[in-house]
Amino acid sequence: MSSTITIDGFTAWLEAFRARVTENRAYLTELDSAIGDADHGSNMARGMAAVMEKVGAAAPGTADELFKTVGMTLVTSVGGASGPLYGTFFLRFGMTAGSVSECDGPALAAALRAGLEGVVARGKPEANDKTMFDAMSPAIDAMDAALASGVSLSDAAAAARDAAAAGRDATEPLVARKGRASYLGERSAGHLDPGATSTAMLFDALAEVIAA
Ligand code: ADP
Ligand code: MG
Repeated sequence: MSSTITIDGFTAWLEAFRARVTENRAYLTELDSAIGDADHGSNMARGMAAVMEKVGAAAPGTADELFKTVGMTLVTSVGGASGPLYGTFFLRFGMTAGSVSECDGPALAAALRAGLEGVVARGKPEANDKTMFDAMSPAIDAMDAALASGVSLSDAAAAARDAAAAGRDATEPLVARKGRASYLGERSAGHLDPGATSTAMLFDALAEVIAA
């Protein structure tokens, strides 16, 4: 357990996220078949496979370089809403983390916040629109609150993971107001949002890597 996350930790985070979206590819696609076009699992698995290939080849030494590669790869390799949204998240994350080889808790939280702001700038999601925002925003709020209360980085990451999972679960009854699911109107209620589900995996992966 450490009070910082290094470049190796960031790379392990991305790999853990890749593993989760790949293992859960069929599940994410099943969620998207209920309220979308049944491609979220394949989009995320394909995108993160491309990311790890690029990162493995380039071996970036600083957060800004690493996450620029991640973001650009997702934007270019994933069709659909989630590629540009996750791509923008990682691009902004890296720009805020900067040319550094490790981040402490406040620096990590600031980078995550910038990533969320990128998602908001791109997709205009608001709370309870039934999107990835509904997992991401509470997760980052929980991390900020945990860090402000003085707990360890690993406890703060665990709080973010739990808040992301709760946010994911809370999308189930919602009527979608953004993305393809919004075309279904009331019929979108009663299903988890696929993007909120993959975002919960992103925070689960982060908590696991930081606790290691
Ligand atoms: P597409 O909807 O183009 O098929 P995906 O299926 O890969 O793309 O991703 C769908 C997910 O993207 C949704 O479950 C939702 O979480 C997220 N999403 C869609 N539109 C928006 C938006 N405007 N803002 C935030 N997130 C969005
Ligand atoms: Mg889709």
